[in-house]
Amino acid sequence: MKGLMMDYALTVPSILRRAAQVYPEKEIVSRMSDGSKVRITYREMYERVIRLMNALREMGVKPGDRVATCAWNSYRHTELYFAVPSIGAILHTVNFRLFSEQVEYIVNHAEDKVMFLDSSLAPMIATLQPALPCIQHYVVMDDKSEPPTVTPTPFSDYEALLAGASSIESFPDIDENLACGLCYTSGTTGQPKGVLYSHRSNYLHAMGECMTDSFGISERDTVLPVVPMFHANAWGLPYSCAMVGAKQVLPGSHLLGSPIANLMESERVTFSAGVPTVWRVLYQHLKQHKHDLSSLRLIVSGGSAAPLSLIEAYKNDFGITLTSVWGMTETSPVGTLCRPRAWMDAWTEEQRSVVLPKQGIPVPGIEVDIRGENNEVLAWDGQQAGEVVVRGPWVVSDYFKNERTEATLTPDGWFRTGDIARMDEYGYMEITDRTKDIIKSRGEWISSVDMENLIVQIPKLQEACVVGRTDVTRGEAPVVFAVLKEEEAEEGVKEEILALLATKFAGWQIPKRADIHFIDAIPKTSVGKLNKKALRATLEEGS
Ligand code: ADP
Repeated sequence: MKGLMMDYALTVPSILRRAAQVYPEKEIVSRMSDGSKVRITYREMYERVIRLMNALREMGVKPGDRVATCAWNSYRHTELYFAVPSIGAILHTVNFRLFSEQVEYIVNHAEDKVMFLDSSLAPMIATLQPALPCIQHYVVMDDKSEPPTVTPTPFSDYEALLAGASSIESFPDIDENLACGLCYTSGTTGQPKGVLYSHRSNYLHAMGECMTDSFGISERDTVLPVVPMFHANAWGLPYSCAMVGAKQVLPGSHLLGSPIANLMESERVTFSAGVPTVWRVLYQHLKQHKHDLSSLRLIVSGGSAAPLSLIEAYKNDFGITLTSVWGMTETSPVGTLCRPRAWMDAWTEEQRSVVLPKQGIPVPGIEVDIRGENNEVLAWDGQQAGEVVVRGPWVVSDYFKNERTEATLTPDGWFRTGDIARMDEYGYMEITDRTKDIIKSRGEWISSVDMENLIVQIPKLQEACVVGRTDVTRGEAPVVFAVLKEEEAEEGVKEEILALLATKFAGWQIPKRADIHFIDAIPKTSVGKLNKKALRATLEEGS
């Protein structure tokens, strides 16, 4: 027998309408490039979104069309997050920090019709314009940076466009399963692939983030997404904040150190999200400059592993809780979050230090499994490592334009993440590698992540990265790249690394002394992850 409840569509415009009706006075604060701030309320945003919807229609944007954004986190970008899906079109948030060939590839692959861009990015886009024949209109958003020397031509000004547009409200009926947003993976292997979010997946993901044991976003929060709005929808925060009327603080293009600390202090931020690099740099800043960050209740760190040393440093030095979140563009992105259980409060610090750096437990709505080489289900015993597979209402089932390969899903329909992890008996996931980064030595796996986590505990080191190199006898051998803290010297550090590794790794797993290299900085990908592909390429060049 069928249930007898309304078939109510879970859509992005319904989030927008609620924000304007229930929280008209709540604010979105944007830091502009010149350091000034713009404040608008949810009610004002709603009125601007209505105009933007009409402007998009006047430009000829039809349901299903793709609208590109090349923009940092700002109130105008938030308006686009709501206006584009509300007319049934698809918001394509372009990661403009990719190589220009990749930006060219994804815009053409998405067949974007209109592009909205920050004025500070105009020269970059102007260079690409000849290679982007699909774009029919450019709209420039003045972010109060130096006026650009070149722009794509012709272009419209965002504010002029809004001023000239009709304010008549007209929301079409939208099927919740229709596409709403498009985001490409950063293409660490092969070309980037498009992940097409639906209204329903964005809605449920936002609701999931508001659950207490998840991010717990509520009306009382002031949220600062440092994670860019072109990286997996700023982890869904524009939608979850609007859903519950949380104040939003958007940092523009200044993401490192002092501007973030100043925004946190002046706007009394309670919740923030970003990659570990952001938190490492902020920590260094906070060590040298006094700020009152007592309003902060939680920082979530994701995209790559947050080392225990960083988690502890925040707690011990500033009383700030920094927690790991794991996810992927393909999982909208939130998959797991490391919230220790209540009964773990009674644990000793040493016991807690085993759990804190893990990626955490699956958030409600997401199911996680780990699978062996033949797709067999592995036990959650904290010992066996296998590939993480996931399923849930905000997990991808196919890529844009059906670019799914056999490796995308398991035969029983779970999404294969390409991450290798152990699950402990309480459901805490611990990533040990990505399938493509794993080091296979003498037929056995060596976890590069376990090795990195141990090495960065050496106080003289800022960062470390471990990759495999081809080795005649062992198949592959680990190579360590380490970055010293500014004031530190190399002397004795190799010995320290080797001695520390010997406490946790077998002799055959330990790198040779000659395979430990000191470098100035570890290359990072466009979204701030350790770029192991680049390091492996350096090794190949060297050999
Ligand atoms: P891409 O897959 O294109 O690099 P994503 O940003 O979607 O871009 O990256 C997802 C990957 O990032 C995950 O599969 C995982 O390897 C890594 N990752 C994300 N969060 C964490 C975390 N908290 N700890 C360790 N690795 C993480």
